[in-house]
Amino acid sequence: MSTTTTEMPCMDCDEPLDFQGFLLFVLATVCISTCTLNCLKTCWDLTKRRQRIAASKNLLLQNQMRQLETQLPTVNYDSIEYPINDSCVVCIEDFNNDDNVRKLVCSHIYHSECVDMWIIEKNTCPICKKTVLINPGEALTLV
Ligand SMILES: [Zn+2]
Ligand SMILES: [Zn+2]
Repeated sequence: MSTTTTEMPCMDCDEPLDFQGFLLFVLATVCISTCTLNCLKTCWDLTKRRQRIAASKNLLLQNQMRQLETQLPTVNYDSIEYPINDSCVVCIEDFNNDDNVRKLVCSHIYHSECVDMWIIEKNTCPICKKTVLINPGEALTLV
């Protein structure tokens, strides 16, 4: 049995000190730039993700507004024959004849700009809690 002894080069004594310094510098540079790149990539991914979420929420909102307009189109207050309430409980203002209002299935009336976001978030009448949209889709997942 013969053992071959391999001569490992000794970094400490064989190599000049400048080279080690340079090597350390290169290593440090590579580490720092990798970290920086990773950070930038994470930031970029997060931004993209936020944009995607915002875009899909926006799309959802548009879809819900379309559904609302289809199922409960806004009307002028003076076109409602027997209004059940003559003021909007959201803003506590009396209706004017040319106000854009929504008459819900329960006959309660609101300014459309006062009640639209409420309906999209809760899908109930603020007064009697009756369901407003028949098929709100993903309305209730928007929180
Ligand atoms: Zn109002
Ligand atoms: Zn109601």
